Amino acid sequence: MTIGIRDATPAIGTLASEASLQLSIVVPMYNEAECVAPLIARLREVLAAYGRSYEIVLIDDGSTDGTTRAILAAAQADPHVRGVFLARNYGQSTAMQAGFDTAWGDVIVTMDGDLQNDPADIPHLIRLLEERDVDVVSGWRQDRQDGALRKLFSRLANRLISRMTGVRLNDYGCSLKVYRRDLLVRTRLYGELHRFLPALLSEVGAEIVEVPVVHHPRRFGSSKYGLDRTLRVVLDLMLVMFFRRYIQRPLHIFGGAGLMCMVPGGLILAYLTALKIVTGADIGGRPLLSMGILLVVVGVVLIGQGLLGELTGRLLHEAGGRAQYHLKSLRKLHRETPPKTAED
Ligand code: UDP
Ligand code: MG
Repeated sequence: MTIGIRDATPAIGTLASEASLQLSIVVPMYNEAECVAPLIARLREVLAAYGRSYEIVLIDDGSTDGTTRAILAAAQADPHVRGVFLARNYGQSTAMQAGFDTAWGDVIVTMDGDLQNDPADIPHLIRLLEERDVDVVSGWRQDRQDGALRKLFSRLANRLISRMTGVRLNDYGCSLKVYRRDLLVRTRLYGELHRFLPALLSEVGAEIVEVPVVHHPRRFGSSKYGLDRTLRVVLDLMLVMFFRRYIQRPLHIFGGAGLMCMVPGGLILAYLTALKIVTGADIGGRPLLSMGILLVVVGVVLIGQGLLGELTGRLLHEAGGRAQYHLKSLRKLHRETPPKTAED
């Protein structure tokens, strides 16, 4: 029997009917003990009035402050609440992925567990998702309640990410977003890439809109991030850009750089060999010789890396049974189908 990731991620708490679930609210939590109860109360209030079937998936990301106990208690008290308990602190992205892996709703909502996002925005975001017929609606904390320096860094990061990825958003970092599940399952989150999810999803065919949402200051606990995050975001952007451009053809980047080393290296060695043969000059001690050899060796290694990358890609797709493309969703295809004319 094959065990899918979904089956392998146990969650505490069950739902009456998973088959027809409309909404999953996915909330990663790391040391947010005081927030669990008020967050659930607020979500319950909003979602009960909204009238759609829902589940609240709380992911305990290796908390050490009583969050685990609070989530367990909530899952036991309310059948809408499910807890996923990670063995250690993996970080927000992995916690979110663990939530996605157990979430059943057709629409998946993500938000922070610290009450900075407001559940009251959820119905509005879902309405936009449906009205505009898009795949992701991303929140924009227009009136963000964080420190001035953090806001400045974040603004610069958002500009940079928008420009580099071509997916223009004012606020990549806002966790409050809604996704259609069929699109969300096309990608997986690694490292700290959760903020890049809109860019990653646009790669696999998602249409995204952004809409202002409310943002509250943190009432309990403290932020899990410092300003050093900006540096990591820049590194992550490089990673995302690499994947965006070269995931399907790694040889082009590594091989390209390899050729750029190998050709001049080869020319240098040919020149020195000719010099030796024609003039009999002693070339053994010349720095140019070391440079030529180094360039050729580096070139060979880089091309080898590219070929290895190509091999890994084939392994992933062929052994993993995954196609290297995604199809346009039927929903979008219907939208583009011309209406029937009288002669038809
Ligand atoms: N979080 C998590 N694992 C971590 C760090 C953060 O699950 O290792 C959760 C955290 O509990 C919160 C959300 O991710 O629900 C956002 O974190 P935080 O509020 O600290 O970020 P900020 O709003 O300051 O950017
Ligand atoms: Mg926060």
